[in-house]
Amino acid sequence: MSRLQWKSLRSRVERTRHQYEPGYRSLDQKEWLKMHKTVFDKILSGDLPADRVYEDDSVFAFRDINPQAPVHVLVIPKTKFARFTEISSRPAEETGRFFSAVSKVATFLNLDSSGYRVVINNGRDGGQAVEYFHAHILAGRKLTWPPG
Ligand code: AMP
Repeated sequence: MSRLQWKSLRSRVERTRHQYEPGYRSLDQKEWLKMHKTVFDKILSGDLPADRVYEDDSVFAFRDINPQAPVHVLVIPKTKFARFTEISSRPAEETGRFFSAVSKVATFLNLDSSGYRVVINNGRDGGQAVEYFHAHILAGRKLTWPPG
């Protein structure tokens, strides 16, 4: 997110937080993002609806609200972290389980023979809008290369 978006989001949340947490101290960006509920946190907790396509113990998959291809599914791990960057410091088994589940979701969607693309946007230049790690599965049309 841009500096401006970050400042406005943070001040909005901090304004309300001060009302019920008198001892609340200011958090750095990393700590704050860890606590902040993204739309995907809300989908996972059931506070927001989602068009679910697959779920198991470690992942949740649902259709993107603004699809960029006839099939556009998002896969999120149930254990939250914000960015792909963090994968290097997370347990390899967890990462393996996640990517194995992404592959399973694509198979479940019948995409193996026609093909598909898995996309992970990371950070500002990567175009990441939601600070909850996720993979996009895109399919159903011939995708162009290079991506924009
Ligand atoms: P990214 O840009 O990689 O962070 O992707 C975030 C994706 O989440 C975008 O493709 C959005 O269209 C999608 N998205 C945002 N809100 C929702 C929602 N409530 N349900 C499903 N997809 C969403």
